[in-house]
Amino acid sequence: MAAQSVTTTCCIAGGGPAGMMLGFLLARAGVHVVVLEKHADFLRDFRGDTIHPSTLELIYELGLLDDFLKLPHSRVERLSGQVGDTTIMLADFSHLPTHCKYIALMPQWDFLDFLSLHGKRYPTFDLRMRAEATDLIEEGGRVVGVHAKTPEGELDIRAELTVACDGRHSTLRERAGFKVENLGAPMDILWFRMSRRAGDTTETFGHMEAGMMMVMLNRGDYWQCAYVIPKGGYDRVKAKGLDAFRESVAFMSPFLRDRLDEIRSFDDVKLLTVAVDRLPLWHKPGLLCLGDAAHAMSPVGGVGINLAIQDAVAAANILAAPLKEGRLTEALLAAVQERRTLPMRVIQWLQIKIQNNVLSTVLGANARPKPPFVVNFFNWFPVLRRIPARLIGLGIRPEHVRSPRANA
Ligand SMILES: Cc1cc2nc3c(=O)[nH]c(=O)nc-3n(C[C@H](O)[C@H](O)[C@H](O)COP(=O)(O)OP(=O)(O)OC[C@H]3O[C@@H](n4cnc5c(N)ncnc54)[C@H](O)[C@@H]3O)c2cc1C
Repeated sequence: MAAQSVTTTCCIAGGGPAGMMLGFLLARAGVHVVVLEKHADFLRDFRGDTIHPSTLELIYELGLLDDFLKLPHSRVERLSGQVGDTTIMLADFSHLPTHCKYIALMPQWDFLDFLSLHGKRYPTFDLRMRAEATDLIEEGGRVVGVHAKTPEGELDIRAELTVACDGRHSTLRERAGFKVENLGAPMDILWFRMSRRAGDTTETFGHMEAGMMMVMLNRGDYWQCAYVIPKGGYDRVKAKGLDAFRESVAFMSPFLRDRLDEIRSFDDVKLLTVAVDRLPLWHKPGLLCLGDAAHAMSPVGGVGINLAIQDAVAAANILAAPLKEGRLTEALLAAVQERRTLPMRVIQWLQIKIQNNVLSTVLGANARPKPPFVVNFFNWFPVLRRIPARLIGLGIRPEHVRSPRANA
């Protein structure tokens, strides 16, 4: 059967944070946009549920903050860590120059549903679920759209611009033949949930011991736990058995001992393989990569969603008017990469430093770790906690919404 064909101005592959934010902003500017999402809904667990102060500020700039904060969420105002027997208060968001001085923890599907709901207020927004981009359509050395697979059959979407927001295993960047620079990561993460009970601490915190690390995010009625293991080490964890794993969880957070049976089997534990990479070139005529498709971030600092959204805002600021007026050039695509390269590189550099100097050392240690002496300054001089708060909460050179707004 011949493929159905649709023509639009911008086709975005991937309805994650980057794709949904870009789709919403372009539609808001009056640009015809088709967003393809391969899944039937946004319901996927452990995708990263952090909405950073910079993103909350963008939502404020869009006039949607009051509505947004009505969605169920919890708030993280401070981050602390325990290294061996030393507890350190690492970041304090309460001094940020933003309307929301905290990280909002919200299921990512609620956030994406929110963007979808507001996108649909604009007649130029066309979100297609269960539509998987499978290949690029290229003509005369230029990308002119994508082939997609839908439940109704093959679909060709022809567009002035195709944006690959299809995540760190991006099909489109692979089809485009883009070179990927792999920066490596020494760890993988095991995610699981434990109930949160009266008397538990309220802090979101991380704990490091010899060969072990666990981060616990306060999600209101449950703890979202990230147990960090050396890269490729999950089979070794499983080989030692469930009881040994439960015991190491209790060792890291003794207050969980009374509910260890909530980890019923390794089916309750999800492995997330960590990758850190980036493309030296994000674009070619008619095609641009954004978010994880352009630069997969380490989970250190939990900033991947933030960067993906910042990419989308920068892209909309630079491209919305030219797309609407039919004057898109490759130089404009290069301008998006140029705008976002410094923030991405600085954060990846810091993440790699922390991965190599802290996480690798802790995961390979036999003796109880001690924090580097300089880290004690965070306890002695609270003002210093504003530095990590700024890097995590706002990133480098935060974007602001400058793309135009058409009538809804
Ligand atoms: C272990 C781990 C923990 C993390 N924790 C956090 C955290 O706490 N906070 C944080 O900010 N970041 C976190 N991150 C990073 C974060 O998940 C990503 O950086 C962020 O989601 C990137 O957004 P994106 O829109 O670029 O891509 P994605 O979120 O990956 O979205 C891509 C979307 O495209 C869809 N898709 C894929 N292929 C196709 C296709 N061919 N056609 C159509 N649709 C397609 C996918 O279904 C998906 O919806 C974590 C990452 C890891 C690995």
